Amino acid sequence: MQRTLILLKPDAVQKSVMGDILARFERKGLKVVGLKMLQMDQALCDDHYSEHVTKGFYKFMSAFMMSGPIVAAAIEGHDAIKVVRTMCGATNPADALPGTIRGDYAKNIDNNIIHSSDSEESAAKEVARFFKENELFAYSRSLVD
Ligand code: ATP
Ligand code: MG
Repeated sequence: MQRTLILLKPDAVQKSVMGDILARFERKGLKVVGLKMLQMDQALCDDHYSEHVTKGFYKFMSAFMMSGPIVAAAIEGHDAIKVVRTMCGATNPADALPGTIRGDYAKNIDNNIIHSSDSEESAAKEVARFFKENELFAYSRSLVD
């Protein structure tokens, strides 16, 4: 069982597709174990995207990430890190296959709708960055299973 972090970027909130995207993960059988809306500030964005802060596109990208509210979700399931990355599709929506989240909803590489953790190491760090321990929930689905 793995946990991974997704961020529904400001364009997902603007397009009113938060529910549609979360529903895809739920339909897949993945479990939402943490969920919140927030607005990023520069420090949080720099921390989250530390591998990119020196890149030419970063200033523009961070301005976009701070431009409005985002939704953070911790998602749990078998191979959740890989499954969620696959469901998100390629970074550049022009390369993202139809049926993937970016393939279906994203406009371009600057507005690509969703972030997801790319490794076990980053997933652990990123879940902890956005959620305190008491904001993560272990629950069974025994009421419906
Ligand atoms: P994310 O981390 O947002 O989930 P990713 O893991 O698919 O995306 P990264 O390489 O981590 O891709 O890039 C982080 C973000 O930086 C991308 O989502 C994109 O918005 C932006 N980005 C990456 N490469 C470029 C580029 N060549 N030109 C412009 N923006 C880029
Ligand atoms: Mg990334």
